[in-house]
Amino acid sequence: MPYPLFNLEGRLALVTGSSQGIGFALAKGLAEHGAAVVINGRDRVKVDAAVGELAAAGLKAYASTFDVTDLAAVKAGVDGIETEIGPIDILVNNAGMQFRAPLEDFPEDRWQQLLQTNISSVFYAGQSVARHMIKRGRGKIINIGSVQSELARPSIAPYTATKGAVRNLTRGMCADWAKHGLQINAIAPGYFKTPLNHALMDNADFSAWLEKRTPAGRWGNVDELVGAAVFLAGDASSFVNGQVLHVDGGITASV
Ligand code: NDP
Repeated sequence: MPYPLFNLEGRLALVTGSSQGIGFALAKGLAEHGAAVVINGRDRVKVDAAVGELAAAGLKAYASTFDVTDLAAVKAGVDGIETEIGPIDILVNNAGMQFRAPLEDFPEDRWQQLLQTNISSVFYAGQSVARHMIKRGRGKIINIGSVQSELARPSIAPYTATKGAVRNLTRGMCADWAKHGLQINAIAPGYFKTPLNHALMDNADFSAWLEKRTPAGRWGNVDELVGAAVFLAGDASSFVNGQVLHVDGGITASV
């Protein structure tokens, strides 16, 4: 093997929305493969607790608290990390939210919040970090999409629209930035038990539907997303660009 395919030692990763759920699992997984990681979220107490948990496990973790929907805050956060911690080698655009309501009743403020949190954030952090990466001629960006970009389910149309936009922005970032040495890919998770899905997790009818609909027959475990992230963050994926990797137990592969 000419180089260590899955070794992230010496790399710095910023994972947005990593104080809990999928983001925390991805940050921990990247750190366990050698990266230093920057934990982000809006709530400083939660961010510091997550950093503390990783540090207690002997992993390298830093805190950067900012709101991904605020462009000035994102730029200041990214520039602060670059100056005070080091060059960002890996950006995981993970922060996201969900809100469910029938489309005819969907509140306009929630629509705006979904657009800001799930797609504007990817542009804000992507552009802020890419400007540094382009100067260095290298960098990895991993956007967290969703199977919902492929599956239309009731009461979730705006979320679905934002995740379709994440898929297409991933391809657009590749079109603009691959020539500068950047790789931009996405992971599209299926259904995972995190606080974002708390209402669905407690719904026996939904779980029964999901287990029947998913070829693997179960919910995903957040740790099962780590392999995809390490692959896309490391040298193993050196010629993979503009792709969406589905980690969903086969749900998008079946009708
Ligand atoms: P959670 O709600 O469990 O965690 C969301 C994280 O994002 C928290 O750390 C939260 O911290 C942070 N966050 C939310 N809004 C902002 C903001 N404006 N600025 C900075 N940080 C923010 O969600 P999941 O872990 O379930 O989801 C993570 C990603 O995975 C999302 O993009 C989601 O759409 C996607 N996804 C999830 C699936 C699932 O089954 N769970 C399936 C498919 C995709 P704080 O509130 O303190 O800011």
